[in-house]
Amino acid sequence: MIRFPRDPSEAVAALRQGGVARAGGTDLTELRHHGLHRGDVVDLSLVDGLDRIEQTEDGGLSVGALVTLRDLAADPRIRGSYPGLAATANGLATPQIRAQATLGGSLLQDVRCWYYRSDQFRCLKKGGASCLARAGDHHDHAPVDLGPCMAPHPSTMALPLLAMGARVTVQGAEDRDLAGLLGDGSDARTTHTLPPGALLTHVVLPPPQVGSRAAYHRTIQRSRAEWPLVEAFVQLDAPGGVIREARVTLGGIANRPLRVKAVEAALVGLPIGADPSRALAVFASWKAQKPATETRLALVSVTVADTLALAAGATPAAALPGGTP
Ligand SMILES: Cc1cc2nc3c(=O)[nH]c(=O)nc-3n(C[C@H](O)[C@H](O)[C@H](O)COP(=O)(O)OP(=O)(O)OC[C@H]3O[C@@H](n4cnc5c(N)ncnc54)[C@H](O)[C@@H]3O)c2cc1C
Repeated sequence: MIRFPRDPSEAVAALRQGGVARAGGTDLTELRHHGLHRGDVVDLSLVDGLDRIEQTEDGGLSVGALVTLRDLAADPRIRGSYPGLAATANGLATPQIRAQATLGGSLLQDVRCWYYRSDQFRCLKKGGASCLARAGDHHDHAPVDLGPCMAPHPSTMALPLLAMGARVTVQGAEDRDLAGLLGDGSDARTTHTLPPGALLTHVVLPPPQVGSRAAYHRTIQRSRAEWPLVEAFVQLDAPGGVIREARVTLGGIANRPLRVKAVEAALVGLPIGADPSRALAVFASWKAQKPATETRLALVSVTVADTLALAAGATPAAALPGGTP
């Protein structure tokens, strides 16, 4: 059965009866096709109020979980005040997927591991005894082993939101910050901490950091429509051209998106656009888990260096029109 609730409380009631939420459906449809979800669907498309972007009292923005990635990237407030977020939303998948995929679904999507998605295998995520990628084909799996599942966390949108300290509001469970939503990767069964029966309603952005520069960049095997080998987001606050604060997040390399505080600290004091090699030396100490993932790990500092160069030349974030100064 497919239910079409009209408001968040109705949606939570339907989810608590065992239904699974469908936002844009771009991931859920495939999961159901592979038998990874069965039972009722709770379609969120008619739920009131979740497809808007609104200003918050403290001068940030509240983005409804059903706002599509295309609309997020095109919104003038996002483009002007959170240009790195807009660039990230515009930089993943295909125009067709971005027109359908929602911000909530992009944060809560499941991993793309071929063992997990195949009905031929019973991996750890499906109640099996072990992560089959460890002994098997792990070419595209996480080179940074935070165990127990080796599949990289799939969400690109988590990178800017983690870097800027966004929060999520939830109906049917506690609100939490992005790091809390993503969890520590210790539960192999899921990519997030939202309990069954809860609805992600909004992603709340803090007030924009006026003058900061941000960029998203990915290293990928082919030019389009593929999950990256490594992806990075960088936000720099550099008044007078010297980095005062840096935020660096990485995706594609671990079972959760990573914020790399050691690199952030090492970037402070560098002139914007300067050679970052010394700050990126931190990555040299990261050990590849298997030979097949060694090349991926080697791409991390290249990807971050490219992202830093892009951020140095990026348009600085502006205050929100009509926002708190
Ligand atoms: C070719 C291709 C390339 C891609 N490349 C990338 C990429 O590089 N980076 C990337 O991040 N993604 C990529 N994607 C994946 C795409 O971004 C996701 O499929 C999409 O973001 C999921 O959003 P959705 O709204 O369709 O979610 P759905 O498929 O509707 O839902 C996904 C999951 O989230 C749950 N859910 C959704 N909304 C809510 C809510 N509000 N409350 C509670 N639970 C909810 C659903 O129950 C389901 O489990 C790619 C997809 C394709 C096909």
